[in-house]
Amino acid sequence: MTELRRVREAVDYDKLEQLYPPAPEYFEGAWLDDPATIEAKQLERLKARATEAAKVPFFANRWSEAGFDPDAIKTLADLTNAPTYTVDDIRASIEANPPFGDYQGVSVDDAATQPMRLFTSGGTTGRSRPTLYTAWDREVGALLTARALYLQGIRPGDVVINAWAYSTHNGAHIMDEAVYKWLNCVVISTGTGNVTPSKKQVELAIEYGAKAILTTGDYLLHLADVAREMGHDPKDLGLTALPNIGDTETLEATFGIPVLQSYGFHEVQWVAVECPEKDGLHIFEDAFVVEIVDVETGEPLPDGEQGAIVITELYKTGSPQFRYNIMDLSTLYPREQCACGSWLRKMAPFAGRGDNMVKLRGVNVWPEALGAIATAVPGVTDDYFVRAYRTGNRDEITVSVVSEQADTADVQAAVAKALHDAVGVKMGVEVGAPGSLDLSTGFGTVAKLVRFRDDR
Ligand SMILES: [Zn+2]
Repeated sequence: MTELRRVREAVDYDKLEQLYPPAPEYFEGAWLDDPATIEAKQLERLKARATEAAKVPFFANRWSEAGFDPDAIKTLADLTNAPTYTVDDIRASIEANPPFGDYQGVSVDDAATQPMRLFTSGGTTGRSRPTLYTAWDREVGALLTARALYLQGIRPGDVVINAWAYSTHNGAHIMDEAVYKWLNCVVISTGTGNVTPSKKQVELAIEYGAKAILTTGDYLLHLADVAREMGHDPKDLGLTALPNIGDTETLEATFGIPVLQSYGFHEVQWVAVECPEKDGLHIFEDAFVVEIVDVETGEPLPDGEQGAIVITELYKTGSPQFRYNIMDLSTLYPREQCACGSWLRKMAPFAGRGDNMVKLRGVNVWPEALGAIATAVPGVTDDYFVRAYRTGNRDEITVSVVSEQADTADVQAAVAKALHDAVGVKMGVEVGAPGSLDLSTGFGTVAKLVRFRDDR
């Protein structure tokens, strides 16, 4: 019989906190490490991760095909000798070895020796993509998430509403574990508006003095509208933290407090967070190596060039993520000391999905980037929708925006010019009245607005 180990036996908490200090002490310690210390830690942990990942068939097979020897890592730069992989490789692994694929470092049988969880991503079409999390992975992942939430303004003892969707996805759960276990917050787990109606969410926030509502930026703005209908100015709700993913400027204007951006995803939790200088997101380099590669070739790009994010985590004990090309777009800053005192490398905020790329007359364009350019034009609201389609043998793009002006000819010309100046290619521009894009974006019916449709 397998020996039953409960969480306190399975996780060495002293070791965990020494390797990955939690907030707030992290910001007085490892956050301020000098470059040599940061990179020495990364190299040591990278070697250990490579050794462990090599035991997992998915990595062992790919590495042997590519001629990559995990024991040959001598410097951080050697990491680029390992092949990258994308979600397509994960899907193929699951198809060949259902339902778990061959990329998990642990199996359900291991749950007897430690508490484990299973979360999935994707799966709206086709099979969902499972990840098994060991007790250690849950704890460190939650601790990293709590670091980001702390910098974003959440403090121990705060009442926090968690309005993310508690589902088979990791998102709501890791937020819950982060604020409950690592920031001693009192969590009210409302879930989305389908579970707890929006009016009730606002009532709970007021009644219990919530300091933050964890959800998408779009849903938070919807709650602001609901609050106004109930006779409350959103600025008076008493929120002191806005750790929400979405339109930073609109959120700040609506609630009257600053928004610091962050970046993370299902399989690895929180990777980076903006500091109060608001010039790039510092990467938690004791737990990650972040690279930026060319979207098409997968080759590493120099600092300052936009490409796809490739993540190697340095902390997990279950399913490794070793050079995972997540196809989110960002840019790496060169390592230099930030005015906040930290030497941790910075990355630009999420700039869109690499797989939404449209090649327009030889130029790579991303819908989210076009939206940012178009909505910055005076007279245009924050709403936009981008459609790609094919005419003859040519890909075309139309950017639709919204203006409150009666005569929109000037706005249309100004948006077209701004897009042409920035991208160097002519594209269609449509200007509609407020509300005209709601059917396309799903405003009022979906949690995360749709900004792009590929009709090619
Ligand atoms: Zn900083």
